[in-house]
Amino acid sequence: MTDAICYRDSYASRVAATVVASEAESAQSGPLIVLDRTVFYPGGGGQPADRGLFLRASDGRSWTVRSARRDGAEIVHELDPADGEPPQAGDLLEVDLDWARRHLLMRTHTALHALCGVVWRDYGAHVTGGNMEPGSARMDFEFEQMHGELVDAIEATVNDELARGREIRVNVLPREEAFAIPDLIRTRINLLPPGIAEIRTIEIVGLDLQADGGTHVANTTEVGRIRVTGYESKGRINKRIRIAIDDTPAAAGA
Ligand SMILES: [Zn+2]
Repeated sequence: MTDAICYRDSYASRVAATVVASEAESAQSGPLIVLDRTVFYPGGGGQPADRGLFLRASDGRSWTVRSARRDGAEIVHELDPADGEPPQAGDLLEVDLDWARRHLLMRTHTALHALCGVVWRDYGAHVTGGNMEPGSARMDFEFEQMHGELVDAIEATVNDELARGREIRVNVLPREEAFAIPDLIRTRINLLPPGIAEIRTIEIVGLDLQADGGTHVANTTEVGRIRVTGYESKGRINKRIRIAIDDTPAAAGA
């Protein structure tokens, strides 16, 4: 079982770890490495897996980690085959994720939750799906009355909420306790497999509470501002909103 540090400390970007299993490259994938612990997020819930590097201090060799994924209780890292012979079981590595990319994903993911929170609170619309890349994302809602001006209002409200400096809290709750929270029921917690005994929640204090496995920033001010970059009708009821993290510096005096 891999100690998956990202779920309790999303700000950990490096860790020393030992290789537990190493598998050579195949036709389908680069070499696959399992460690005793890792800071890599394995992907899921619309958030892509991390990328980064392994460094072996004993001889200074390094490997590019191009992806990671969950396999049961383990996190499997996929290396770039161009880096040659992979590290072997027992090797001690420095694990170093691409922090600029991950931090942008954390800001993007928290921005999506703020969007969900606003659309639910102000319009009562459920989320039906979502996906993100570093710095941009889309979210689908059951939102029959959505139109252009509404989208501008939503953008302004989300930016107001982010500027309030709301704290983001991670909690792990027993399943029964989680099922007693109305806010969690509306985010379709009931679709979770019955075997799961504990449910991890992400709360933007005062705005949004969801069952979620992703990595988030600690305060909404760290997200900054968002821009709504598009919206589409996916049918009479289903609507899609696209957002981007707005890193344009505020124009002086404007
Ligand atoms: Zn999420």
